[in-house]
Amino acid sequence: MGLLHVPTLIAVNCILLFMAVVTYLMILKWNPDVPGVRHWAVGNLFQAFGFLLLLSGTTLRPIFTVVCANALIIIGYYTIYMGFRIYRGKTAIDKPNLILFLVLLALFVTALINLTHSHVMNSLALRSSLISMVVACMCFLIAFEIAGIPLHDRFITSGFAVLITLHGVFNLIRSAVTLVIPDTRTLFEGGGMGRIAFSESVMALFALTVGYVLLISDHLLGQLRRQAEIDYLTNAFNDRSFIKRAEMAGGSARRDGSTVSLISMDLDRFKKINDTYGHATGDATLRHFSSVITNNLRPGDILGRVGGEEFMVLLPETETPEAFDIAERLRLEVEQSVMEIEKVRINLTISLGVSSAPRGEKPFDRLAKESDIALYTAKKGGRNQVAVFSTGG
Ligand code: GH3
Ligand code: MG
Ligand code: MG
Repeated sequence: MGLLHVPTLIAVNCILLFMAVVTYLMILKWNPDVPGVRHWAVGNLFQAFGFLLLLSGTTLRPIFTVVCANALIIIGYYTIYMGFRIYRGKTAIDKPNLILFLVLLALFVTALINLTHSHVMNSLALRSSLISMVVACMCFLIAFEIAGIPLHDRFITSGFAVLITLHGVFNLIRSAVTLVIPDTRTLFEGGGMGRIAFSESVMALFALTVGYVLLISDHLLGQLRRQAEIDYLTNAFNDRSFIKRAEMAGGSARRDGSTVSLISMDLDRFKKINDTYGHATGDATLRHFSSVITNNLRPGDILGRVGGEEFMVLLPETETPEAFDIAERLRLEVEQSVMEIEKVRINLTISLGVSSAPRGEKPFDRLAKESDIALYTAKKGGRNQVAVFSTGG
């Protein structure tokens, strides 16, 4: 059973933590923009050094070693917690939370020093109970953040949140047992309790590292999917994913009998902007246009870039008159928007064509052709206007 000796188990924890740190650093090197990984790496590094100190403490036993070791492990937990906040798109630190943490840490260190100095019979048990309680709190804090991560795969978040909650629950139980059973000191000195605790910690750490790596993969997978669907210049959907979404909207319109509408848009005299100010300014104009449209769409409406400077907006559950009103509003928003590049003010207008498919009865090709015909009518009519497709032409 030499393998289950407490120092061996602490050493295994330590090695696992260093391996995890190396894994995160490699991931960071290849994908520097995965949010939170830096904090996970630093957090695990703190913990690895904490365990390293604990390891020396078991043979040397200076008082401050135990205190520093546990403080490091807990600071490590807090840093990992910050990593999860960043992963969720929040700020790393929220002030009241940090102040509470620092106060708790100060109390914890003071209590630990007092307990280590005191000669109360089971001060070792009390000390261990205190550490477990703080670790449990940290775990619950982290589990709370994990549970809020919107993932493509719910299974990963729930599994991960459950794991870290279990780690917290185990620490809580351990804390309670040490407090309630007076004989725990002998248990500790015999090493039984310590063995269980550090074995659990090895298993939890292993599971958590797998969990982190899954989270990172999920993030990268999401990024790849977005890159495949979004036009890099304007952030609108690219033509392929726009058509896919439009066909899906047509399918649901057929099922629920609603009307789906489409707006074709084309920038007016865009060639002139390119020729006068250069291609880069032309690109900036496209980005500006796209953000004006996006900011003025309802949730559920979709903007797609279907050509160089040709765009479409899909309006699910929208009848023709409402689609016309929306198109007219978009036209006005673009016309009134201020676009200034290097102190030059550029006036931008667009022409729009509207078509609708009651009960989603038209295939997308036809709907698109009809809105393009209407757009052509708007161009012919003098530009900077909206036309609605009618069978009359
Ligand atoms: P109209 O009012 O009739 O639409 O006139 P127009 O000048 O806008 O004519 P058209 O729609 O045919 O112009 C398309 C121009 O858009 C030609 C091309 O150089 C430019 N363009 C297409 N894609 C891009 C792009 O990604 N960036 C830039 N800067 N220009 C682009
Ligand atoms: Mg065009
Ligand atoms: Mg044009």
